[in-house]
Amino acid sequence: MRSSLIAGNWKMNGNLQSVVELVEGIKAGNAGKAELAIFPPAVFLMKVGGMLAESEIALGAQNVCDQEAGAFTGEIAASMLRECGCRYALAGHSERRSLYQETDQLVAARCAMAVASGIIPILCVGETLQEREQGITEDVVARQIDAVINLSGIASLGQAIIAYEPVWAIGTGKVATPDQAQEVHAFIRGKLARLNADVAEKVQILYGGSMNPSNAAELLSQADIDGGLIGGASLKADDFLTIAQAV
Ligand code: PEP
Repeated sequence: MRSSLIAGNWKMNGNLQSVVELVEGIKAGNAGKAELAIFPPAVFLMKVGGMLAESEIALGAQNVCDQEAGAFTGEIAASMLRECGCRYALAGHSERRSLYQETDQLVAARCAMAVASGIIPILCVGETLQEREQGITEDVVARQIDAVINLSGIASLGQAIIAYEPVWAIGTGKVATPDQAQEVHAFIRGKLARLNADVAEKVQILYGGSMNPSNAAELLSQADIDGGLIGGASLKADDFLTIAQAV
């Protein structure tokens, strides 16, 4: 039986004071039903890591460098994330892919470095609206996952999490129906099962894309949805905690 993870991606929002208040609000209201993880902006990781030291809430980074160390200005090494207390790092969020041209290969290399350094990557995959309308959702998701398998092998996904995030649903208020989401999650699990049944059974597959307190319960009740990656609704402690209680 897979456990559920509710992960909050705060993106580039907030300031030191609001971040501290949000962490305090989430800590105070956490009922401990689902595992929670929060992904603050990188400059606040050390601070938030300290605040979470005695709590059950995990810390994650919004990205991780594909290289170990050296002349990679602006990047953050997995070893540094560990020093901040991170358990997770996102890799290949659609905003990184579309706004900063991160390729499937770079995302796969980021995942590989995370796994090698003891950070659990959350590999984000998903199709654009145009790709969905062309009927190539499964091809796109398969290609994004295959980049990781080709670089690191199927076993590496046993140490990772996958987040299915249809790009057309991220930050738009348009949410995939539970059936649409379940269909893609089942496709992903089935694809992995053909290569390694244990990995397929174990890997958590999160849904992301305008999940909120009103739609979370139905999405989270689907057989292959093992939690959520939440953007906008993770910026309010009450909304984030209500989603977690829907597990
Ligand atoms: C995200 O950025 O991963 C996300 C799912 O955002 P939102 O919940 O705001 O759609």
